[in-house]
Amino acid sequence: MAKPEPEDAADLGLYVHIPFCSSICNYCNFNRGLFDSALKDRYVGALVEEIRRSPFRGRAADTIFFGGGTPSLLDPREIARLVDALRHGFDVAPDAEITLETNPETVDQPKLEGFRAAGVNRVSFGVQSFHDDELVRLGRIHSADRARQALAAARDAGIDNVSLDLMMWLPGQSVDRWLANVEALIAAGPEHASLYLLELYPNAPLKDEMARAGWSQMPDDDAADMYVQAMERLESHGYAQYEISNVARPGRASRHNLKYWTDGEWVGFGCGAHSTVGGVRWKNVSGTGEYAARIAAGTSVVTERRVLSRDERLGDALFTGLRLSEGIDLAAVGRRYGIDVWARYGNPLRPHIDGGWLVRQGERLALTRAGMLMANEVMSVFV
Ligand code: SF4
Repeated sequence: MAKPEPEDAADLGLYVHIPFCSSICNYCNFNRGLFDSALKDRYVGALVEEIRRSPFRGRAADTIFFGGGTPSLLDPREIARLVDALRHGFDVAPDAEITLETNPETVDQPKLEGFRAAGVNRVSFGVQSFHDDELVRLGRIHSADRARQALAAARDAGIDNVSLDLMMWLPGQSVDRWLANVEALIAAGPEHASLYLLELYPNAPLKDEMARAGWSQMPDDDAADMYVQAMERLESHGYAQYEISNVARPGRASRHNLKYWTDGEWVGFGCGAHSTVGGVRWKNVSGTGEYAARIAAGTSVVTERRVLSRDERLGDALFTGLRLSEGIDLAAVGRRYGIDVWARYGNPLRPHIDGGWLVRQGERLALTRAGMLMANEVMSVFV
């Protein structure tokens, strides 16, 4: 692949996809499959080889993110091998943020100590709910107690940067039950939290289970209430919302994910991983076996590659930047893309300002909290 030229000296984010899970959740639409020890061994070797072959070797990077799937199914020695390969290939900052997505049932304190020794300094737990019946309904295999134990084990292992994921608007979930989850999260005291609305993709097994059991999601107005009240409670406990779905204590926003929302550059390794560097975007093959086979054969793992036009890049920068609570700096984006953003988009954006979904203060344009619930509609202006 021809090497896209970076346009500035911003540090890369490095993403590593681990596609294995102990069981498959009934709502999941990610690129994942059941754990297979032999395939996993081949896959880790293939990742090391893909990193070794990267055309971006030598570039500075300041974040590493192991996402999945369930990266915590790997042994700490395998994570260490991958971190070492990245450090060997890239100029990874000594204080790089190194995140491992972790499912509570996969870890105990010794394993978390092993991950920490491998270089992991941020753990993101997929908790999803603190109600056991909701976890069962989602097909998750941990309990609320197991999640609390895993968090305590992370603390005992010396990990001082922890994020918890929760899902809201679950089938049959009332506003009060959701807010009890938020209170449980606050009591658990992570540095960071991500709150996602359950999205049911067309063929999700959960959809069939909901139909059989007569479960439904609450009306849209309740979902809006869940979102707004959760954010208000978190803010009253020292968390600041910095993105549509994310809150953090001061200084604990996800440095890696901020690259996606601030027009940054990242290189992804592994099956289905996406990359964006120098206005070029590409994606690796999705299949785990195919990915490993292509690496073994010495052929490219890239399936889709696109050189983005200036307009597409501008649209993406505005679309993703508006996800941030601080919004976008119209003057800075304008300078970067050589365009008067307001002259181009002011007219279609005006009704969203009048409707209370967007605010413009000087050169800053940001969604209001009500606007965050209507984000797709507002952002469609840029697509
Ligand atoms: S653990 Fe995560 S990636 Fe794996 S099946 Fe469940 S939701 Fe999907």
